Amino acid sequence: MKGICVLGATGSIGVSTLDVVARHTDLYQVIALTANNNIDTLYDQCLQHRPEYAVVVDEGKARAFDDRLKYSGLSDIKVLSGVKALEQVATLASVDSVMAAIVGAAGLLPSLAAAKAGKTVLLANKEALVMSGAIFMQAVVDSGAHLLPIDSEHNAIFQCMPSGYQTGLQAKEARRILLTASGGPFRNMSIDQMINVTPAQAVAHPNWDMGKKISVDSATMMNKGLEMIEACLLFNMRPEQIQVVIHPQSVIHSMVDYIDGTVLAQMGNPDMRIPIAHSLAWPERFDSGAKPLNIFDVKRMDFEEPNLDRFPCLRLAYKAMNLGGIMPTVLNAANEIAVEAFLNEQVRFTDIPVIIERCMDATATKQADTLDFILEVDQQARLLSNQIIAELKN
Ligand code: NAD
Ligand code: MG
Repeated sequence: MKGICVLGATGSIGVSTLDVVARHTDLYQVIALTANNNIDTLYDQCLQHRPEYAVVVDEGKARAFDDRLKYSGLSDIKVLSGVKALEQVATLASVDSVMAAIVGAAGLLPSLAAAKAGKTVLLANKEALVMSGAIFMQAVVDSGAHLLPIDSEHNAIFQCMPSGYQTGLQAKEARRILLTASGGPFRNMSIDQMINVTPAQAVAHPNWDMGKKISVDSATMMNKGLEMIEACLLFNMRPEQIQVVIHPQSVIHSMVDYIDGTVLAQMGNPDMRIPIAHSLAWPERFDSGAKPLNIFDVKRMDFEEPNLDRFPCLRLAYKAMNLGGIMPTVLNAANEIAVEAFLNEQVRFTDIPVIIERCMDATATKQADTLDFILEVDQQARLLSNQIIAELKN
């Protein structure tokens, strides 16, 4: 029996994770669930999974939540609050695996704490890895933790990598990664048309049902930019070894191109329970609940090169990774602020890359040596991005 902690249990990935876990209660016991403030969903999850701990980051809501559990006779579930509690539950001795499914930079400290504690880290929270880069990867090496990618593309790449790679072998025979992208809801739009898109249009993804932030990232293609950086870090590749491929049907989830000309692809229906189940069962396999792929329903598969003029966020991600040091941290922070401003209707969709590029241009490249420095850079980039937004509005 393995103990699992789900960080961000109430989100899209968290809910899918618990769906898979519920199919395998003989193998997994839920030790801790965390939410930012969605106590209704967390309550239902506590009722079903009976964790030892529930974290509600918002303190006021945590008190109300505790009362509700007591009133329902669930007083044996310990309710914690505040950001430190996330690290506390991610490092409990009874926890073997941590699903890192908080969105954005808020997930960095608990995910990193899990890695440092040598847990099996199931990483959905790509922003945490992008912002901390080598520091995160070093923590995994130092503690002997397993880092298993949940992002469907990276999970696909992981499955297509040479055998032995997963246990530390250098993947010299893999020459290139073909990172697939659906292209998002605005794949065929001109820049002029994109100027007026609304948040509601941007969050309506054609193939995947996801949280708001990653949905906007998919629409700008910053999601693929963050994933390119994520792939460089996870698989020890350089940016020029990662080719983004637009594949609108989302049947192939990514490919690895080998030096002998072999290309391995991982396919399946677009259902996040597949990579989640793969990582929960690894190195074995078990049922995910996803529908089997009917290859005759697929009919055709298209592949296109991405257009970096219409999707400047992807270009900016390559620029940040090539500059290196703190630049991916700056890119991520500026993107989080710009996306939030777009969702709050303070800036236009096409302002998102403008804000990020101005923020990057105003920041000198430096080495990202320590976690404290990374956190400081993240805060500075957020302040700067908010100033740029204020200027844009005038
Ligand atoms: P979501 O918005 O649906 O859920 C986010 C979760 O994080 C919620 O449980 C929320 O309570 C929690 N949270 C938000 N802010 C927090 C804070 N400040 N402190 C503590 N907890 C906080 O997001 P999602 O779509 O599930 O995505 C989660 C992560 O997984 C993201 O990093 C995303 O890029 C990645 N991811 C998601 C998908 C997908 O299909 N949804 C696919 C690949 C990768
Ligand atoms: Mg992905």
